[in-house]
Amino acid sequence: MRLENKVALITGANSGIGKAIAERFLAEGAKVAINYLPGKPNEADTLAQIAAYGDNALAVGGDVSKREDVEHCFAQAVAKFGRIDIAVNNAGIEIKKPFVDVTDHELELVLKINLFGAFYVHQSAARQIISQGGGGRLINISSVHEDIPFPQFTPYCISKGGMRMMMRNIAMELAPNKITVNNIAPGAIATPINQSVLDDPEAVKNALSEIPWGRFGKPEEVASVALFLASDEAEYVTGSTYYVDGGLTQQVTLY
Ligand code: NAD
Repeated sequence: MRLENKVALITGANSGIGKAIAERFLAEGAKVAINYLPGKPNEADTLAQIAAYGDNALAVGGDVSKREDVEHCFAQAVAKFGRIDIAVNNAGIEIKKPFVDVTDHELELVLKINLFGAFYVHQSAARQIISQGGGGRLINISSVHEDIPFPQFTPYCISKGGMRMMMRNIAMELAPNKITVNNIAPGAIATPINQSVLDDPEAVKNALSEIPWGRFGKPEEVASVALFLASDEAEYVTGSTYYVDGGLTQQVTLY
């Protein structure tokens, strides 16, 4: 049990990568506040799924793009579990659109969820952890597109690039409080966010041609890196990005 007596809050953790991280953390003994976006048609299923994890899991509904929702999620987690040790920014969306056609609403939507939401979550977590005397783990699920351009996904790339700079900056600020801050940059992982690609054989073929490992990644493969970064073993690891991409980043660099 690598996370015994630890309390984690993970955003967007009812699906894909966040769900895999929540399940891995629970399996390693953590207590986990599982954030989900309320008001979706599958809300009852989400709540039933989280309830089935047992007493170490708590469903905390809230839109990460709203500061008051984020603060309420942390308040609920602290009320139930007494503290926060780990916060994972996982919630995210992407919109595919040529740069010249992106509307203000689309730009704001992506930045508010992916970047402002991440800011609110890590700021709330840091405040709580410092009030407990320090010592904690902040993790962002960014993307290879925190660094690699992705035509037609400009707001998404801005958000993930911003997340990279936020991570590097606050890693320095929070080091005296013994709070580590790191990013995980997934490549192409088989999750609902990629459903349109996964459903299109030609798009799958194109995607695979860019992945030296020859397949999509699994959410569990991202979760195992999150587990390491969240664990006591990662005490001296801060201010960096860890790629989980089957070599995609290196392949792109070649051309
Ligand atoms: P996903 O669509 O399964 O998960 C995204 C989650 O974010 C969902 O649970 C969704 O409900 C939640 N969410 C969206 N808006 C929210 C809001 N306003 N408040 C709270 N929750 C909200 O897809 P995923 O692949 O598991 O994505 C997780 C993260 O991984 C995202 O940040 C994504 O950018 C990143 N990522 C994914 C891949 C990939 O290939 N799957 C690659 C790189 C990065």
